[in-house]
Amino acid sequence: MGKVYLVGAGPGDPELLTLKAVRILACANIVLHDSLVSGEVLARVSAGSNIIDVGKRCGRKLLTQDEINSLLVSYAASNEVVVRLKGGDPLIFGRAGEELEALREAGVEFEIVPGITAAIGAAAAAGISLTDRRIASQILFSTFSRRSDADAMDWGAVTPATTLVLYMPGPDYGGVAQRLREAGLPSELPCVIVSNATSSQQQIRWTTVATLAHEEKLPAPALLIVGRVATQRAQEITANFWAEREGFVAPAEIYSGGVERPVS
Ligand code: SAH
Repeated sequence: MGKVYLVGAGPGDPELLTLKAVRILACANIVLHDSLVSGEVLARVSAGSNIIDVGKRCGRKLLTQDEINSLLVSYAASNEVVVRLKGGDPLIFGRAGEELEALREAGVEFEIVPGITAAIGAAAAAGISLTDRRIASQILFSTFSRRSDADAMDWGAVTPATTLVLYMPGPDYGGVAQRLREAGLPSELPCVIVSNATSSQQQIRWTTVATLAHEEKLPAPALLIVGRVATQRAQEITANFWAEREGFVAPAEIYSGGVERPVS
């Protein structure tokens, strides 16, 4: 019986692979990868390895999740090193939970090799600190995607000091902006769209909740960072945003190092 490695391929730049990922790719017998995984990363896979694209892109479903789960189990029976290679980090919006469950049920040994998730790659690309202590104290990774069986996003968890990272925002920026406004986020709140973060096709658009709807659609994969940190001039622009919002502490108090009160 072989072992299955759930490996994070990072956001695109192959230099962001971990040393462990590179070592495992170089000795893999089989690699099952998503469409998100770049060709430059796949170039690190051992020459003798069988590479299978199990990705789903543009509505063209190649394999169902159940089929992928079964493949992992059956390949592990006859291969020493089976790699399940996922974009970013395997445990973030990657359906790893279902795969791990299948492996556990079948008694297959596995190991998880973390990768740099897209949010972190995008923040680095845009040069913003997701937890700038003057204006942010928590990060929320979420998605509007309706494909998830999980409950809808908990807007109660969003405070003025939250940096929201929206994976899979889709091309309907107007719809996204509307949901952000409905959740009570101020229209002047900055956001940044980062497409193909860390790859040669990287694009960045600085915008706000108000202007997001009119932005040119950037190619997938793209994500949205929303919050006071999501601007190159965070402190200037956002100083008064939340002062009027009941239950929240005024940003000035945060800037001056005051203790942030919990949201009532
Ligand atoms: N496991 C992955 C996320 C998979 S969900 C991770 O940890 O990053 C796929 C979504 O991730 C895309 O729709 C997009 O929102 C985001 N994404 C992945 N790679 C990206 C990249 N290079 N730049 C911007 N967003 C990216």
